[in-house]
Formats: sequence, C-alpha cells, structure tokens
Amino acid sequence: MDCIFCKIANGTIKTEILYEDEKVVAFRDINPVAPVHVLIVPKKHIESALKLEGEDFNLIGHVFMVAKKLANELGIAEDGFRIVNNCNRAGGQTVMHIHFHLLGGQDMQWPPG
Ligand code: 5GP
Ligand code: ZN
Repeated sequence: MDCIFCKIANGTIKTEILYEDEKVVAFRDINPVAPVHVLIVPKKHIESALKLEGEDFNLIGHVFMVAKKLANELGIAEDGFRIVNNCNRAGGQTVMHIHFHLLGGQDMQWPPG
C-alpha cells in the first residue's frame, strides 16, 4: 500500500523514532508548526477518525497514554500542549492514515482557523 505513514511505521522509510511499541510509533513532523511537533501514529492503517471501529477505540486511548508520556519527556507537560486530530478535507487532513499531532513549546492560539 502506498501510504507514507505505513512505510514509516514498518521501517521502509527511515525516520528518527521518538517512541515505538507494538501499537504506535511517534516521530517529529517534517514541517513543524510549533517548537515541539510530534506525530503519534497507530501502526494499523486506519484512514481517519471516521473509520474507527471496535477495538480501535482502545487504541486511541493508548495514543493518549503515549502523548502524556512524550509531553513529559519533551518538557512541555507543565506549560501545556495540544493534541490534534484532523479528519478529512475540511478538517485539514492531508495524510489519510490516522495520526495525532502533539504540539507545544509555545503559547498555542485559540480558536484554530
Ligand atoms: P494532517 O494534515 O494530515 O493532519 O497532518 C499530516 C502531517 O504529516 C503534516 O503536518 C505533514 O507535515 C506531516 N508529514 C507528511 N509527510 C511526512 C513525512 O514523510 N515525514 C514526516 N515526519 N512528517 C510528514
Ligand atoms: Zn497507512
């Protein structure tokens, strides 16, 4: 399958991995929009939040466990951070393999555009 995040998750494309376990992989965004911008990506190819079903919902809880761990390790936990999932075109999703942005290291703006 021609999916960039599947290729990163299975090692076909080499990227510095910040965290990995049997369910997810985390690495820095290639085009960071904040001083800390990490992508947390389930290894299972799920297109978007709209396609989640069954056991996938436990996987998303696991993603938040990893986000909390990384936020602490990367020093953005106390100041605060943001976890973002973009879904489909109007939501700003450009890679059709579900992923969560962990953003921090600056004061984030609200509301988003
Ligand atoms: P989306 O817009 O789908 O929510 O987020 C996709 C993100 O993936 C973007 O922030 C983009 O910069 C990032 N991205 C796209 N291709 C690559 C890649 O090959 N490597 C890394 N590290 N990030 C990528
Ligand atoms: Zn994929």
